[in-house]
Amino acid sequence: MSLLITDLHKTFDTTSALRGVTFELPEGQIGALLGPSGGGKSTLLEIIAGLQSPDRGDVRWQGRSLLTIPPHRRGVGMVFQDYALFPHMNVFDNVAFGLRMAHLPPDEIRQRVSEVLDLVGLGNFKRRNVTTLSGGEQQRVALARALAPRPALLLLDEPLGALDRALRERLLVDLRHILRALRQTALYVTHDQEEAFTLADRVILLREGQVAQQGSPHEIYHAPADAFVARFLGMENIFEGQVIPQGEAWGIRTPFGVFPIPGVGAPPAGRVRFLLRPDGFTLTPGSPGSLEGVLREVSFRGMRQRVVVQVDGEHIQADFGARVVLPAVGARITLWFWPQEALQVLVG
Ligand code: ADP
Repeated sequence: MSLLITDLHKTFDTTSALRGVTFELPEGQIGALLGPSGGGKSTLLEIIAGLQSPDRGDVRWQGRSLLTIPPHRRGVGMVFQDYALFPHMNVFDNVAFGLRMAHLPPDEIRQRVSEVLDLVGLGNFKRRNVTTLSGGEQQRVALARALAPRPALLLLDEPLGALDRALRERLLVDLRHILRALRQTALYVTHDQEEAFTLADRVILLREGQVAQQGSPHEIYHAPADAFVARFLGMENIFEGQVIPQGEAWGIRTPFGVFPIPGVGAPPAGRVRFLLRPDGFTLTPGSPGSLEGVLREVSFRGMRQRVVVQVDGEHIQADFGARVVLPAVGARITLWFWPQEALQVLVG
């Protein structure tokens, strides 16, 4: 039982928004559609909701195609970045709107509205006019309104995009609790890696209308499939090397020396691109890999500090915790690493 997207294509005039997107989201899970702007995320959501139709491909829910079902009968709820609340109605009427359209009995409407408003933490806000609410509260109302009809599938299109960072983080955690408690199948669009990783069971990374990689947040973070995914996740140390046999196993000749390649099986032969993970370094000597260079830059980012070290002609980025004591900019520094943790051969 799942949402199954197969080979979706959509072209607007001359722009190819989707070029063969396929993925599956099991019932009860939260999927994040992640990727840079223009990747096709919103178009995909609109096709699932029935606001656009695809040129090719299918959208199936529980084995049945949704494409021939009119939008309001698909059992799909939506939450948008701009809330899209009715400004002339109070909170109760906003949340009750879809239930009244479905001609539910008044008692049931009252009960369901109370339930979802409690769920989003706005139990006492029923009579408030929505225009008097803060952005975060308005988005909670929008979420309650989308949940009230008990949609089979909830679609959220950058719902936290208009809110400040602290509020976004709080709402994100609340949202995760609410969706998990309901076992709500949901698809969440964002360009923010942190949001996707915090919320989702599965991440589908879209690039120019195609799936660049999909998997759990852990799988994607720890094994980015190619240079695009690595760069999107903020890992810029991508270089070329030559794969060589090393005894029984394989190694890679790089501009920085020869290192063993981790993993079982033969890596791609010949010249390959590889990644040095910025989170794979330490300043404590003792590991088999090391890079000596000059500290060129330190940018302090609160929880961590990112440094740029010049090694021969190349610049290497490395991340350290906020408490790690660094030498002065311009001083020599050695980055130590375990090749099996820090070095990954990339496919594309
Ligand atoms: P994302 O949500 O990842 O930013 P979109 O799905 O909004 O990506 O857009 C994907 C591509 O399709 C973009 O190049 C965009 O300009 C184009 N596009 C989306 N909707 C339309 C439309 N209604 N008409 C023409 N082009 C569109």
